[in-house]
Amino acid sequence: MKFATVLIQGSPRVAQIDGDRPTRLLAPEFSSVADIALAGTEHIVWSNEVIPAGEMTVVAPIPLPRRNIFCVGKNYRDHVREFAGSGFDASAADTAVPDYPIIFSKVPECVIAHHDKIMFDPAVSSAIDYEGEFAVIIGKGGRRIAKQDALAHVWGYTIVNDVTARDVQSRMKQWHVGKSFDTFCPMGPWAVTADEIDLGDTLIRTWVNGELRQDANTRDLIFDVPTIIETLSAGITLYPGDVIATGTPAGVGIGFKPPKYLVHGDVVTISISGLGTLENRVEAIG
Ligand code: MG
Repeated sequence: MKFATVLIQGSPRVAQIDGDRPTRLLAPEFSSVADIALAGTEHIVWSNEVIPAGEMTVVAPIPLPRRNIFCVGKNYRDHVREFAGSGFDASAADTAVPDYPIIFSKVPECVIAHHDKIMFDPAVSSAIDYEGEFAVIIGKGGRRIAKQDALAHVWGYTIVNDVTARDVQSRMKQWHVGKSFDTFCPMGPWAVTADEIDLGDTLIRTWVNGELRQDANTRDLIFDVPTIIETLSAGITLYPGDVIATGTPAGVGIGFKPPKYLVHGDVVTISISGLGTLENRVEAIG
């Protein structure tokens, strides 16, 4: 099933999506997809309200996650190679596949919705990059989750754009700030329950202004979803509604020579099979 978080007269609600249209509302106690992840899809409560025509705004499925979004770096071989070739920093010179997942995070407040604007201040960064990513939404929480049990803890999936200020990322040697600017986590357009997605064969494609830049498959992940969950939960309790972006494939702006960073007016479109299409325009602000 697909679910979107929507605003109806300013109130957050959750709607089931059929095709690309909201068809039924959940009861008002469900105000975000995170509430379904917490309750379990089998415990959702439907509303009898009729969907109001033309009065609904689709927002991010989890507009304000309860804590940072976990992200995996360098999780596709081709991306490891392009990053190494970019001369980005000392760590990037290493073309070897990482021995362990590289995990960082983005602040919750940087989440925006499908069609919201990715905004950046050119005085702060002139190297804005896109990263189309397949993202996991945790259902049942837990600590020390074994790989073989991990998928039972996944509620569903969505799309995330791990927008990054490459110059800030490089300057600080640490990724948190350059990946957490306001508006730097487009998410959505909705979320899909785990049963609808084949982790062994899901296409991820990203376009900038219609030019195909990323074209990959989740089967090419270096560290798969169960491994990521086992690694994270070894010492950190995972909670329902936690979001984990699994890493970006090759084809980011910094991988080109010269780099193709985002500029004012660019449109980034990410499609993942079964998850829909997430599109955001870039706007420079002063
Ligand atoms: Mg990323």
